[in-house]
Amino acid sequence: MEVLKNYINGSWVDSKAQETLNVVNPANQEVLARVPMGDKTAADAENAVSVASLALIEWCNTPVMRRVQPLYQLKQLLDENIDEIARLITLECGKSFVEAKAEVQRGIENVETACATPTLMQSEFSENVASGIDEFVIRQAIGVCVCIAPFNFPGMIPFWFLPYALACGNSFILKPSEKVPLTMMKVFELIDQLDLPKGLVNLVHGGKECVNSLLEHPDVKAISFVGSTPVARYIYQRGAANGKRVQAQGGAKNPVVIMPDADVDMTASIIADSVYGCAGQRCLAASNIITVGDGKGVMKEALYEAAKGKVTGFGLDEGVEMGPVISRDSKERIENLIAQGVSEGANMLLDGREASIEGYEKGNFIKPTILENVPLDGEVVKTEIFGPVMSLLPMDSLTDALMFINSNNFGNMACLFTNSGLAARTFRHYANAGNIGINIGVAAPMAQFPFSGWNDSFFGDLHGQGRHAIEFFTQTKVVIERWPKEWSRKF
Ligand code: NAD
Repeated sequence: MEVLKNYINGSWVDSKAQETLNVVNPANQEVLARVPMGDKTAADAENAVSVASLALIEWCNTPVMRRVQPLYQLKQLLDENIDEIARLITLECGKSFVEAKAEVQRGIENVETACATPTLMQSEFSENVASGIDEFVIRQAIGVCVCIAPFNFPGMIPFWFLPYALACGNSFILKPSEKVPLTMMKVFELIDQLDLPKGLVNLVHGGKECVNSLLEHPDVKAISFVGSTPVARYIYQRGAANGKRVQAQGGAKNPVVIMPDADVDMTASIIADSVYGCAGQRCLAASNIITVGDGKGVMKEALYEAAKGKVTGFGLDEGVEMGPVISRDSKERIENLIAQGVSEGANMLLDGREASIEGYEKGNFIKPTILENVPLDGEVVKTEIFGPVMSLLPMDSLTDALMFINSNNFGNMACLFTNSGLAARTFRHYANAGNIGINIGVAAPMAQFPFSGWNDSFFGDLHGQGRHAIEFFTQTKVVIERWPKEWSRKF
């Protein structure tokens, strides 16, 4: 079985690692490849940093208009290869082919947005701030930038950072999730075809040893992390202690509020897509579904029907809407949480455990699950399940719902379904979350907007995507200039 190579200094090279981990298709446990792991991956990371530091010297002095040209090429290559990339995502990550393709599309949109860097990087200039003195800001590259990515969007999340970092004049090292390294291997085959200096973009495999080496290295200037909250907190703290700029996006527990005036069928269908899409393994998956006031019964029925109808199976099979969860450990963890919910007093409305899919009996499948009347202080309501589980929570008013939402430690997303502009306006103002959806089930910001998690869902100041990315990947230099008349020749 192939051990995956690293991409360093423009070439595919063997890792120094002696340990490996199997990359597994979660639908049938087939081993797809072996990924380097362990202590020796730290040396791979160091190697990548040293070539990235050298590549930087020429690149950061290249005009920005020239720096975005390879991104146009990259967009075209991604468009041409979207089906193959999506197929790899389905194989190693489990989501359906349709979901995988949509994911790559969102990645490509970041490449397109980063092509606007010549304009986005423009800065401020004030003439005559004091007599005969002008002042302005220059945005310059920061240096070697690192991205540490999670398993759930292998074809999108690296693009929240990579195109902006390059366009701003930096070099880049990607450490993909060890669970899903194949998608970015394919993308780097495309990157290899671009007109870029050797060493400017690198890919290293590994787990925490590789990450720790990058967090400690003095030549790494910025870290972009996406993953679970405990690791995000750790990366933020250790990266900052080492003087690096850090943006660390963490986990979530997303509430959705349904007002009595919401359209029943449309709301149920959108919410079921949010809860069960990608088998619930989205950081913007709806999880706690709050039904307010009258109409709870009708809405419950519609949600039940929408959930029950989801076709679960191998993501490359026609018509499949929901794939397996990433690993056996993950399946066990999710099933234990469902059992805990029941033991804490929740009523099981739809039980997706014991799912068996014909032809894929070994897969990590859990079908759509609904727990109702879940106790508000129970574990299921507070913990990120990251699986296809909906908790139904009836409440009396929007105020009660907002108080509940704002007691949550996370703050990635909060959504409201309503026909009332006033309710929507109140909600968007008071909800304590960084991404708000009004009659939207997955409030994923488009590439031009920051991916704005709050609280334990984000550690840092500047988020991924859009203008925030430009700010994150540049440092400002303020110039104050005087040209005294007395020193100049007459003109
Ligand atoms: P994870 O935290 O287990 O792993 C993420 C990355 O960190 C991987 O590359 C992994 O190798 C590395 N890592 C893991 N443990 C480490 C350690 N102890 N030290 C250093 N590095 C370590 O996350 P995951 O399971 O891959 O992804 C799922 C999580 O990501 C969920 O919590 C989800 O909500 C979150 N997520 C958040 C966003 C967001 O935008 N906020 C987006 C996608 C996923």
